[in-house]
Order: sequence, then C-alpha cells, then structure tokens
Amino acid sequence: MSKTGLNRQTTISRSISYEGLGLHTGKPSRVTLLPAPPDRGVSFERYDLSEPRTIPVTPANIGGSRRATDLECDGVAVRTVEHIMAAISWSDIDNIVVRLEGEELPLGDGSALTYVRLLREAGVTDLSAKRHEMRVTCPRWTTRGTSHLIALPYEGTRVTFLFLRKGSHLEPEYSDSEYLDIEVTPEVFREEIAPARTIGFQWELETIQEQGLALGATLDQAAIVGENGYVGETRFPNEACRHKALDLLGDIAILGRVLGHFIGIGSGHSMNHELVQLISRDLEVKRGV
Ligand SMILES: [Zn+2]
Repeated sequence: MSKTGLNRQTTISRSISYEGLGLHTGKPSRVTLLPAPPDRGVSFERYDLSEPRTIPVTPANIGGSRRATDLECDGVAVRTVEHIMAAISWSDIDNIVVRLEGEELPLGDGSALTYVRLLREAGVTDLSAKRHEMRVTCPRWTTRGTSHLIALPYEGTRVTFLFLRKGSHLEPEYSDSEYLDIEVTPEVFREEIAPARTIGFQWELETIQEQGLALGATLDQAAIVGENGYVGETRFPNEACRHKALDLLGDIAILGRVLGHFIGIGSGHSMNHELVQLISRDLEVKRGV
C-alpha cells in the first residue's frame, strides 16, 4: 500500500546514483534510479552502449540462471538483478527506470540493504493510477530431485524456506538445515530479509572463481558456509536461508506484485525462474492473453 493509504501506484521522487563492482563479473558499474510514469513498471536501461537499450522486466526476458538472475532482450543483458528487484518491490515502488552503465548490478554489501537505502533516499511519490495486484490463483510447483518449490494462493505474501547447508537431507543423520517462515511486509522485508548477504560455500570459493563467477565478491559481502557451520560473522543465525528468501522474492518480483505463499526446499534461481514462468502463464490466462 502506498503511503497515502490508497492503493495507488508509486515512483521514486528523485533520481539517485550508486557505483560498485558486479558480483560475478567483478567489473565496476554505475546504477542510476530514475522516476517513471504510471503503468510503465520496472525497466532496465543499458546506458553504456553506443545507443542506450531498454530491457523491460518481464518473465519472457529471463536469461541465464548461473547463480543469479539475468534479464536479456534482443541480445542485450543486465546481470544479477534479483537483489534490486526485491528492494524495489518491497520498497513499494511500482514504476522506475534502472539505468546501468555496465553489464551487472553492483553487489553493494552483498545483501539488498544498499538498494533499500538508496530507494529510501530517493523517496516515494504517489501517482494517480490504481495499483495492479496479482495473486497466485492455484497451486503451482516445480521439483528437481530432493529440491522443491511451491506457490499457493494466499491473502498476503509469505515465504517458507528450508535451506540445506550441505548435501541432501536424505543423508544419514543430516541435521544441518536452516528454516524460515515469514509473512512479508515492507517493514519485515527491510528488517528481516534485506540485510541477509549472498551465500558463499567455503569449499566452492576457488572453483567458482575459476569458472569466472563471483569475481567481485569479498568475504564480508557474503555469509560463508563452511564444513562445520558458518565461517566468520553472520547477521542472522540463519542468514543463508534468509538470503534464499530474498533471492526468491526478487525473482517473483519479475512478475510484478504477486500475493501468494512460496515454499522452497533447497531450491535456487533456476527453479525460481521455472515457477515464475508457470505463474506467468496463469496470469496470462486470467487476463485472456
Ligand atoms: Zn542473492
């Protein structure tokens, strides 16, 4: 709900910029958030190319899913959009242009806090147009081995997540899991989910960088899961699980504002993308597309 209490669309009050390194590319990029008119929704703009290109946020433009969410339109991509997408959606912003000079969104502190703060600084302006709210209309799910992701109709937004710190819960005496069940509101998002940093598995760090991923991350931008629990400080005892909820909310936000109960067990971006496509088809049927 917008701050007037009416269910009106919003945009940001003024433009604002931020610079930093991308998580996977390790390259510097500059992001500028700009106000947008009603019904324009969220769109990305690649401003570093010889001609600026717009990449609308829609499930049809979901590209890669190698540990992040990329959007791609006519051969032009923006990478690692999930943290800013969650921040925009749960800062109650409906219309915004995310202008990017670079290919990948800056990682910030590894969580969504950098973007939540940036949006807060930019301020919220109510627009006259009515807000569109969608809902999960029937159960949808995707399963891969022991991983599951389920969407159920719900009066609100709720995330239930089981994060398996290592291996499978089918292993004998497996008990190293994290759990979260949370009713999401903008305030809850800001306090309980947005600060959770990117997950790093200690045993994967070298291999990932050899594959050319996570080049822009330092250890304080991640919750590092080791063989025997976390290595270093954490912001929550179940920080990785909370970050999974953040990634899931960011991926769901590609659809717009959706009410539903989302339940994940060991799932990640590529399953999120599958679920987004399934829900998107239901929404299209409802709209008669
Ligand atoms: Zn993430």
